Amino acid sequence: MDFLSPTTLADALAARAEQPGAVPIMGGTDVMVEINFDRHRPPALLDLTRVTDLATWERVGGEVRLGAGVTYARVISELATELPGLALAARTVGSPQIRNRGTVGGNLGAASPAGDCHPALLAAHAEVELSSVAGVRRVPVADFYTGPKKHAGRPDELVTAVWVRAASGPQQFSKIGTRNAMVIAVAAFGLALHPDQRAVGTGIGSAGPTPLRAREAETFLAGELDWDGRVAVPDRVAREFGRLVAAAATPIDDVRGTAAYRRHALAVMARRCLAWAWADHRAGHQEVQG
Ligand SMILES: Cc1cc2nc3c(=O)[nH]c(=O)nc-3n(C[C@H](O)[C@H](O)[C@H](O)COP(=O)(O)OP(=O)(O)OC[C@H]3O[C@@H](n4cnc5c(N)ncnc54)[C@H](O)[C@@H]3O)c2cc1C
Repeated sequence: MDFLSPTTLADALAARAEQPGAVPIMGGTDVMVEINFDRHRPPALLDLTRVTDLATWERVGGEVRLGAGVTYARVISELATELPGLALAARTVGSPQIRNRGTVGGNLGAASPAGDCHPALLAAHAEVELSSVAGVRRVPVADFYTGPKKHAGRPDELVTAVWVRAASGPQQFSKIGTRNAMVIAVAAFGLALHPDQRAVGTGIGSAGPTPLRAREAETFLAGELDWDGRVAVPDRVAREFGRLVAAAATPIDDVRGTAAYRRHALAVMARRCLAWAWADHRAGHQEVQG
């Protein structure tokens, strides 16, 4: 197996163009599992860990450009204010070892319906930056997932970054698994309130062939919330929001849980995330008023 180890992004993109069969490897927490279990033996690995540009993030206007090689540990320690939903999701990933190696770009590259970044990125209306020697494009994350473990990146492209608007309101993430740590989600849910746009973002994980948005639930809730007065969310609204989130999922029965359980869990997680996020929104209001 060849091992390509570029040190610049230009060289990495050139290598990608020349050898589209070479498998990109960042933290290796998915790739090495595949190789060690002999599920996949690629002709070459394209190591991206020496491309330092990929491991940086920056504020660009109101957005964060998060390099694909930024680890979960750094999202948690450096970006909890700008990207609170993603930081919450990152806290639930694997173990400290996995969070020190695993990256957001790797989670996108794997495009598993169970990946924990996806609900948070969907709720935040993020965009994925894809680069090749031909240029750079940005794809809304909702259009990035094209099938189970499939994404919109071309064989000559690399995920180079994710663009996420810095949070203008509270964000929440909830994940259900068969234990509290080191667990693949049975179902997961991300919620972002965007008060500046009077908009709501949602993301569903592990309950469909791809990560999903619950668009009807978003529109419903955005129209019901008292954005300025910040009065408590009526129980009827929270329940209907949960129902619409569950209805947007297309889960299956598998070893981790039944479709019915996943739907139920999503309705509960949606209501809980809403309660937590709205409490934060109201608290922020009181701080401003106080
Ligand atoms: C013990 C264990 C626990 C885990 N727990 C969780 C968990 O709780 N939640 C969760 O979501 N995941 C979990 N994972 C899976 C994994 O850690 C994540 O998916 C992680 O984000 C992968 O990142 P990485 O940098 O290690 O990716 P890699 O393994 O390096 O790559 C993953 C995939 O992305 C591709 N890729 C990598 N970088 C790029 C790029 N720049 N452009 C295009 N394609 C690219 C690779 O070719 C590969 O297909 C776990 C894995 C292990 C081994």
